[in-house]
Amino acid sequence: KAVRPQIFAKFSTAAEPSSKQPSPLRVPNLIGGAFVDSRSSTSIDVINPATQEVVSQVPLTTNEEFKAAVSAAKQTFPSWRYTPITTRQRIMFKLQELIRRDIDKLAINITTEQGKTLKDAHGDVFRGLEVVEHACGMATLQMGEYVPNVSNGIDTYSIREPLGVCAGICPFNFPAMIPLWMFPVAVTCGNTFVLKPSEKDPGASILLAELAMEAGLPNGVLNIVHGTNDIVNAICDDEDIRAISFVGSNTAGMHIYARGSATGKRVQSNMGAKNHGIVLPDASIDATLNALVAAGFGAAGQRCMALSTVVFVGDSKSLEDKLVERAKALKVNAGTEPDADLGPVISKQAKERICRLIQSGVESGARLLLDGRNIVVPGYEHGNFIGPTILTDVTADMECYKEEIFGPVLLCMRADSLEEAINIVNKNKYGNGASIFTSSGIAARKFHTEIEAGQVGINVPIPVPLPFFSFTGSKASFAGDLNFYGKAGVNFYTQIKTITQQWKDLPGGSGVSLAMPTSQ
Ligand code: NAD
Repeated sequence: KAVRPQIFAKFSTAAEPSSKQPSPLRVPNLIGGAFVDSRSSTSIDVINPATQEVVSQVPLTTNEEFKAAVSAAKQTFPSWRYTPITTRQRIMFKLQELIRRDIDKLAINITTEQGKTLKDAHGDVFRGLEVVEHACGMATLQMGEYVPNVSNGIDTYSIREPLGVCAGICPFNFPAMIPLWMFPVAVTCGNTFVLKPSEKDPGASILLAELAMEAGLPNGVLNIVHGTNDIVNAICDDEDIRAISFVGSNTAGMHIYARGSATGKRVQSNMGAKNHGIVLPDASIDATLNALVAAGFGAAGQRCMALSTVVFVGDSKSLEDKLVERAKALKVNAGTEPDADLGPVISKQAKERICRLIQSGVESGARLLLDGRNIVVPGYEHGNFIGPTILTDVTADMECYKEEIFGPVLLCMRADSLEEAINIVNKNKYGNGASIFTSSGIAARKFHTEIEAGQVGINVPIPVPLPFFSFTGSKASFAGDLNFYGKAGVNFYTQIKTITQQWKDLPGGSGVSLAMPTSQ
């Protein structure tokens, strides 16, 4: 039975009803260090995708509360930016320890609100935890540069300063990892932050904020608001917010990039994906099939790193048969069940959309090798389940290929040569990631040189880079020029100040020169 978390109980202002069933709890805002119930009378239900149970209700934060959150962040900025970097780092040291302590609690919340398996939910937290660990070394990451004596008795140095109030807008698919891509880096650089979690699964953000406060993050450094389009537009338009980090779909991402930039903000926007895996005939078959199944169906395909399209070079019939065999063996169940390999998709609407795209593939000539649309999971008959689905004979003009499906659906295509396979990938509008499976170093090198994608895998499915690198992405998968975390992430949340100083006994009587100063 799915577990109903009680994490918001202590913030809830709702009176306990007389019946045995408690009413759904309201997710609080976090403003100036206080977890407070919103005054808004409008809420969105957070629904357990395996059961349709209402887990909690997320309010549409009012404009007044949003302004209060930004104002708390703005007022805290001067004291926080001058808090020694070592103190800011120590809070991250403590935060990583607390995340480890509460990883089970975070994972169960993620599984309940988002649906992914508990094991996968642990991974969601862990990959975010690694960013917190990286932020513990911010002093060296944020170091400036110094050139002595650029001119006689004159030195120049540059420092990286925080921007001010930054904001983060999150998607539903990684309720812990993606908030952790954002606020730990931003605040350790000295910024203050306003976070807008996904309205579909805001619980992990609240838990993480609680831990950040427990770790010693001062009131007002991290604030949380809730809602959908209106609050996002308010973030884009607010004059006190200096930068926006966004992860989510292209529709929202391009809108936020344009609207946020129009008011002079920095925006980094990580968007949709259609990741391809190219399989050459010399690939190690067993390992490749395992990688394709894991990356195609893990998290029910709801990862921006999902390998949703395979391009087989040469004959693929026997590989497709084996792929079907392995995909069939996967257990679809509620994420809380120990035997689950994949859980439900996020919502009924998502399920309908995925099924529609599968059907459109069939109608435009693709062949269904495995159809997961009619799956029934005993005990969870109302869940949004779709079993692993495989379509073959897919071509580039099909809607199921052009659109990001974001479900447990693997598309199979064929190419006669590596050249042709690379062309297929490069013609796709997305550029999040691509992988190749081969035992030829020459082929792998050609692939990584010519492929137009941010994350490139060689004999591994698309890897989420560890935090000393950055999560990249090109073409329609990314807008902006500074990526998330790693060096680029630090650069995104800081601006350069260049200081030129002169400390010498100045000769008198040399007069005034209005000519452009040049190095002497
Ligand atoms: P989404 O765009 O629907 O929602 C993301 C956020 O934007 C939410 O907080 C939502 O409230 C807000 N939003 C949605 N529509 C909006 C609109 N029209 N105007 C203003 N705000 C809006 O995305 P999602 O469904 O939560 O997440 C799935 C998408 O995220 C997929 O496309 C996936 O590929 C992408 N994603 C990308 C990466 C990456 O790093 N490239 C990582 C994870 C997810």
